Amino acid sequence: MQAPLTFAVDNRLPEILERVLQLLPKQRPVADTNPLDQLLYGVVAQGLSSAGATACFRRVKERFPSFVSLRDAEPETLRSLMVGVPSAALKAAAIPDILRLIEEAFGSLSLEPLSRLDQELALRFLTRLPRVTEEIAVSVLRFTGTDRLVLHIDRDVARPLRRLGLAEPGAPLSALPRQLIERSPVAWRSEDFAALSRGLTRVADRFCHQGRPDCSSCPLASLCPAAEKTEGKVVTFPFGKRKASLA
Ligand code: SF4
Repeated sequence: MQAPLTFAVDNRLPEILERVLQLLPKQRPVADTNPLDQLLYGVVAQGLSSAGATACFRRVKERFPSFVSLRDAEPETLRSLMVGVPSAALKAAAIPDILRLIEEAFGSLSLEPLSRLDQELALRFLTRLPRVTEEIAVSVLRFTGTDRLVLHIDRDVARPLRRLGLAEPGAPLSALPRQLIERSPVAWRSEDFAALSRGLTRVADRFCHQGRPDCSSCPLASLCPAAEKTEGKVVTFPFGKRKASLA
């Protein structure tokens, strides 16, 4: 029997999604993206800006246009295409290994069989591949053609989520996905949750800092109950008698 819902739909969520989407670069349409490309792109992109990652991945694909050629690539050659890329040697060694492991598991260089696994198994398979984090795995599942709900909430995403009142006070990180799903419009699909998660990561990075958030610049301020509480709050130093300045 399905567990009863605990939280009512929060009518701010469509507007929150709309606003955080403005912070994200335009995505290629889902249908155009091969999940295996998305996986390899995710590995290359770790620690890079999106522009740097796109440029690097393009160099790799131009030199090795097929997955077969990439599987057989010498790590040294791959590394030479990643000048200035963090952990280049490790990434260059991981890419052919990832392709070989996928071929061993599925009999072909394709992630299409993931769509026949349940979400947990698919995530477990992907995160066992070298240098594939849970975040990369979640992004790959969005491109496998299934409509499963994949919601990634890490500590950074949780911060604005809690301040926006979209999580119960004191709720553990593991409880947040369900709390958010219950509060969301029933028509939302996995890509909406994925976009919200990516957008809130940007909000956390740019405005909703761990210490004092920059609410006056945050596009969510008019929807956020915490914005009023943090605006104008003076941070004082424990030493000295002068009043701390907000400048
Ligand atoms: S308004 Fe302030 S507290 Fe709310 S999400 Fe934005 S930065 Fe965080």
